[in-house]
Amino acid sequence: MRHLLSKSKYIRGLQCDRALWLDVFHPDLAQYSRETMRKFDRGREFERAFKDLFPDAVDVSAALGRKFDKYAEFTSNELSREGEVNLFEAGFFFDDVLVLADVVHKRADGTLDIYEVKSGSALSDTYRRDAALQHYVISHCQKINSFSIVYNGKLDKSDLSESSDQSEMSDNFKIVNLTAEFAAEHETIARNIAVMKGTISLTSEPDTPTGAHCQTPYECPYQQHCLTGIRDLSLF
Ligand code: SF4
Repeated sequence: MRHLLSKSKYIRGLQCDRALWLDVFHPDLAQYSRETMRKFDRGREFERAFKDLFPDAVDVSAALGRKFDKYAEFTSNELSREGEVNLFEAGFFFDDVLVLADVVHKRADGTLDIYEVKSGSALSDTYRRDAALQHYVISHCQKINSFSIVYNGKLDKSDLSESSDQSEMSDNFKIVNLTAEFAAEHETIARNIAVMKGTISLTSEPDTPTGAHCQTPYECPYQQHCLTGIRDLSLF
């Protein structure tokens, strides 16, 4: 099952069609700032800390690496096991989109609790859109009991005095169940995916000009390419 879109490509496509096209056909042109790389590192550390709460989980990415066409089948097999199951980076495929869910807990009744882990201290629109895409894909593969975003509760407590007891800081994870909100987004997501498939089918780079959208919600890694004026990258 070869996928066209992933979580990161979908978010890129919401920001800019040209960035999506470049992500698919010329990812070698991406240049990330040091600050962005540091953010990636902080995000991975925070996610690792949350995953430590599930010591018995099977890490699908550790088993399969970059064999992305195997993730959905491997995940389906793991979820067919009797009883409760915990998985990291479980893969689900629908509508040519492959999503890897950070943490999946299969309950005894067979339904899933899904956790998307974000290291920021607030629920941003981008976090919601990322998670809503996952809800769209996974709900077409399995029955979802809950879909939550986990974010950094510790950062929210930064106004506590230095003398605050460390035990007060132990609740590092805020977990917000947004299942009902995500279900209402499916029509919009299906439309967005159709538009993005159209972008990916183009044989040359979209001629989208640079602008304020190059910084929001993320600093686009293709700015140097777009600002040099080199255009009309073509697949032929
Ligand atoms: S730099 Fe701006 S125009 Fe170029 S791909 Fe990124 S968001 Fe799009």
